[in-house]
Amino acid sequence: MRPSRIRRVDGAAGGVAAGDRRAGLRSRVRCDHRGLRPVPAGVSEATQAAADVAWMREALGLAAAAEAAGEVPVGAVLVQQGRAIGRGYNRPIGLHDPTAHAEVRALREAGQQAGNYRLPGSTLYVTLEPCLMCVGAIIHARVARLVYGATDPKTGAVHSCYRLLEANALNHRLPAQGGVLAEESAALLQRFFRARRRSAG
Ligand SMILES: [Zn+2]
Repeated sequence: MRPSRIRRVDGAAGGVAAGDRRAGLRSRVRCDHRGLRPVPAGVSEATQAAADVAWMREALGLAAAAEAAGEVPVGAVLVQQGRAIGRGYNRPIGLHDPTAHAEVRALREAGQQAGNYRLPGSTLYVTLEPCLMCVGAIIHARVARLVYGATDPKTGAVHSCYRLLEANALNHRLPAQGGVLAEESAALLQRFFRARRRSAG
């Protein structure tokens, strides 16, 4: 993520109209991919929404850990059968690893915990809309549902830049929902990039 991104999150750069971006950040982006329910069967919308917020709060805590490590603040939690089995926060700089995004790290830990490279029935919570690589990893892992916070107009591959989950060629489909605690996630990112700009200037 380059510093230019934050200007877009702030709503000052070109591209999508600022109003649209703000609406995207504030509203719950519901995406019912070809009839896939964003809420699992047998669970009320209110119950699921409360659980989503609680897990996203945990992901936000992990994003704060990334910030403390000098990394772009993004956090992720992988939940299976009501239990968090994988957690991750952004660490590409510190680990010298371009793949060390929060989502990938949460998936890796979950795979170790489950003793399985596939994670059926799981939900991945992440504070920022996933990129191309992470959407690919989510599909490989057979994650059943994706919930994210802020939209990423620069590299988001769920709804913003690409709508990968809607690709016809995919052999695994999952519903994705954005906008959960989006303001808090975006505020964390904005604060991080503001501080970085200050220290650079
Ligand atoms: Zn990613």
